[in-house]
Amino acid sequence: MRAVRYHGPGQPFRLDEVPTPEPRAGEVRVRIVAAGVCHTELHFESGLLNLGVAPLTMGHEIAGVIDQVGEGVSSGRVGDRVLVYYYLGCGECEWCRRGEENLCDQLRAEYGFFNDGGYAEHIVVPARNAVALPDALSLEEAAPIGCGVTTAIHACNLADVREGETVVVYGVGAVGYGLIQVARLRGARVLAVGRTQRKLDLARELGAEHTINARETGDIAGAVREWTGGRGADAVMELVATAETMEQATRMLAKRGRLVFIGYSEDAYTVHPIQLVITEARVMGAVGNTLAELEEAVALVAAGRVRTLVDRVLPLERFDEGLDALRAGEVVGRVVLNP
Ligand SMILES: [Zn+2]
Ligand SMILES: [Zn+2]
Repeated sequence: MRAVRYHGPGQPFRLDEVPTPEPRAGEVRVRIVAAGVCHTELHFESGLLNLGVAPLTMGHEIAGVIDQVGEGVSSGRVGDRVLVYYYLGCGECEWCRRGEENLCDQLRAEYGFFNDGGYAEHIVVPARNAVALPDALSLEEAAPIGCGVTTAIHACNLADVREGETVVVYGVGAVGYGLIQVARLRGARVLAVGRTQRKLDLARELGAEHTINARETGDIAGAVREWTGGRGADAVMELVATAETMEQATRMLAKRGRLVFIGYSEDAYTVHPIQLVITEARVMGAVGNTLAELEEAVALVAAGRVRTLVDRVLPLERFDEGLDALRAGEVVGRVVLNP
């Protein structure tokens, strides 16, 4: 089968011919119909994210149809439309016992990170990692749930976003759009920061009450303070994380505000502790999502309460076009590959 693979830091991805995987006991094989293109893939390609596994098939937003099952899995699952949960924890460590597989001490698999992912015609995963999708959802709109919406739910859970709070979503990519909608559902007021008017207009459509165009506004923290009557933001979701945005994000925090790092760049975070001490602010990271959060995300999108945005669907061999568009900041929502 064809697969788009990572071959080491700084090297371009290549479309390779690889053996089609066969499901073993307890596993299913998914014929992939839609694979979302995430910023993570750009970090692999640039070498910023180097997990030491190569070659590796990229892609962790994976939707498709089960076309084969291994021993012990009901043949009734063949034909199921599914979204892949991309973590496979050990099931035994303290994190797995709490259902927080994303922090597992002994991960058995992480598809698209340590194990072959979704930029391919097929993937084999344990049956429990193939989460059934309601008929209402197309596979193209389902794929971006896998990271875009689930990561948003996870970050809102970690930051404990509550009704009446102000949340700044710093960056309006797919996860940013997920965050705007999830924070709104929790009753928060949302302000979105971006650099492209078209993306900010869409942020408003999805529920952001206010937007700031970073190309036009220099003192973004000042603008956030002004909009909140001097109070600042209760939670700031950092999806860009350059030296410039991190400085602004820290400065816009309210007392007991939470700064959540979801995105990252080459830049380091520097802050004088006094800034955090006198406001009792908290800084945290958020990675991935739990299976329960993925199930919640699927239910929210199926119910029409959260939307995923598909910028375009490309055949697998045109993956470069999708990556180039994402790198250039031209993608509104997600590019989806159809292998
Ligand atoms: Zn992702
Ligand atoms: Zn574990």
